[in-house]
Order: sequence, then C-alpha cells, then structure tokens
Amino acid sequence: MNCYFDHSATTPIDSFVSEWIQENQSIAFGNPSSTHAMGRKSKHILETARQQLADVLGCASKEIVFTGSGTEANNLVLYNLIHQEKQHIITSSIEHPAILSTLSYLEPFGLTFTLIPVDSTGTVNPQDIKKAIQSDTGLISIMVANNEVGTIQPIDDCQQIAQNFGIPFHSDGVQALGKIPIQDSIHNCDLMSFSSHKFYGPKGVGFLVKKDSLKLNPFIIGGGQEFNLRGGTENIIGIGAMALAAKSAIQSLEKSSKHISNLERKCISGIREIDPKVVIHGNHQSHIPGLVSFAFNKVDNQTLLTQLDRAHIFASSGSACHSGISTPSKVLATMGINEDINLSTIRISFGKHNTQDEVDYFIQTLKSLILK
Ligand code: PLP
Repeated sequence: MNCYFDHSATTPIDSFVSEWIQENQSIAFGNPSSTHAMGRKSKHILETARQQLADVLGCASKEIVFTGSGTEANNLVLYNLIHQEKQHIITSSIEHPAILSTLSYLEPFGLTFTLIPVDSTGTVNPQDIKKAIQSDTGLISIMVANNEVGTIQPIDDCQQIAQNFGIPFHSDGVQALGKIPIQDSIHNCDLMSFSSHKFYGPKGVGFLVKKDSLKLNPFIIGGGQEFNLRGGTENIIGIGAMALAAKSAIQSLEKSSKHISNLERKCISGIREIDPKVVIHGNHQSHIPGLVSFAFNKVDNQTLLTQLDRAHIFASSGSACHSGISTPSKVLATMGINEDINLSTIRISFGKHNTQDEVDYFIQTLKSLILK
C-alpha cells in the first residue's frame, strides 16, 4: 500500500485535469498574443480560465494575474515596494520563505520589515500588527494558513487594521484554496497569492488576485502580458488546467474537507493511543483540515521519516537535514517549541484520495516503530 500523506507539499493532478491537458496540449499551442486563429484559440483558453477562476472566487476576471508559481505571486507583491515611497513591510515570523527570504533579499534595495511574533499555536495577534505600523509602512502581509502547522491566521482582523490605516493588505493563500472557504477574505484583501499544485492542478503555475484599484509594477518585464504585470508568454495549458482544478476544489470543498477531517480525527486518536504525551502542534480551534504536525519526544524525525518511507508512507517535516545534521524548523522554533520536540516533529497532510485503511496502516506501522 502506498500512502501519500504530503498534500501540503504538493498534490497529484486530478485525473479529469490530466485528460484535459492531454486533449489540449498538442492543439492549443498558438501564442495567445498572435492574432491568427491559432493564437485566438489559446487566448480563448486563457481568458476562459481567468473567468472561471473569477467566478469561483467571487472577483472580477481583470483582478487575476497569472504567474509561474505561488512564490512568484508573492515576489511580484514584495518587489513592488522597491518602487514605492513607503518601504516598510509588516509580516509574520512564520511566513513561507517565498515571503521571508524575499524580504531579506530586498533589504539592500532599501526595504525594511517588522516580523510579528506568533504564540505557541502559531497564531498572530492582530494588535501586534497595529503596534508595528510606522509612518512609512507600505504593506502588511499575513498568510491565510501556515504550511507547517496548519494554523489559520485571523486575517480578517489583520486586514481590517490595515484598512483602517490605509495600508495595502496581502495574504499568502497558497495553503488555503480548496481547504477552507476564502471568497470573503479575497473580497476584503487587496492582494492574495495562490499556487495550482496545492489544489490538484499542475506544477509551475499560480496566480495573484489583485484589487483593480491597486496599482502594481511588474516584477518580470517583457512583452506586456498579464495587464503589463508579468511579461512572458503565458503557460496556456497550465493555466487552463489550474482553473479547472480550482473550480473543482472549491465546489467540492465541503465534501472533501469532511472526509479529510475524519481521517485527521482517526489519525490523532491513533497517535494519542500510541503515546498520550504526543505533542500536536498548531491551533486546534483554527487550522486547515488534514494537517497533523506532531512529535513523540526524542524520536528523531529524519530517522522516523526514512522508516516510514521504507513502509511506503510518505510524510515530511519542517526541519532540514544537511550532511546528516538536522536543523530545527524555524517555524516551530518561533512558536517556542523546544529543540528536542522540534527535531522529533513530522507533518502528515491528508488529501481527498486518502482512505481510512491507509490511516489504519499508518498507525499500525507507527506503533511498531515507536514502541519497538
Ligand atoms: N506559500 C506557501 C504558504 C506555501 O506552502 C508554498 C509552497 O509550499 C508557497 C508559498 C510556494 O508556492 P510554489 O510552490 O507554487 O512556489
């Protein structure tokens, strides 16, 4: 039995999306900027995808900018600040590297930033954002949900503070689409980033939802595609496939999140039976369904992941292993988790194709590894 439990890292492509790709990739190869019939066919796919996304997200099609990834959508937003007078950014200390590393990279260009702390559940306090606002704050960026522990941030409250101070608000929604309803937040936020491969679409394609009233400068300069915001011939097939996957993920959200939450409950009760002292990270009141980040104290996570891998169970951790030396997860360290627990933490993230039998097999295998 192959148990893929790493859906927060990436998801398999939906089969009907793969079929659509196969049917269209050899016929829709025209450049959407060409005016002939082949170009118009590609342009039609592009604009249909934009409209499909706009319809399911409840925004206008002109507010959708296609990018090459969630990372690129975040970069497009952050690079914009180098052209602005107000160059201070407020963000949380547990954002994805697509935000945190980009901000560090942009420091020599004059950008400054304040990292808002999180509590032990990985949740930001919106009042900390308020306190961090400076006269030159030009952007507030808080992710919808964290990729390592699944905590959902109170982004509506954060956005409200930004709005009260007239500061644009961006949110990294990459972990949220298809897992929790986000239409209202999209409506309220000025900018939100997404990535296709997190919701059963192809890799290497993403998009940014941008309020029409907000002016942005391009990050990739070229032929003026994407309303002059992202040069480069569009990945037509990837974009068409992403829109189909997004539509399906949003329309089946209720059903899939119920199924995934059941798997999560079964998993948690199983790991608690193995060891009642197991530490389960994140905000248990407010987290994305199906992500279980947990630690059995002093059980080295890299060893455990390798043993699980051998048993065809595919999970991950937030810590990195270089030349046999494990580095603790920065997210968990920021949440105040001690190093022993940090280096014992693994992340299971369920998807819609996982089954109760797979969870049973996982718990059985884990039990034999932990209690041996
Ligand atoms: N933001 C978050 C919260 C993520 O989890 C990820 C991917 O893991 C990204 C951004 C980057 O997305 P992409 O892989 O499309 O660059």
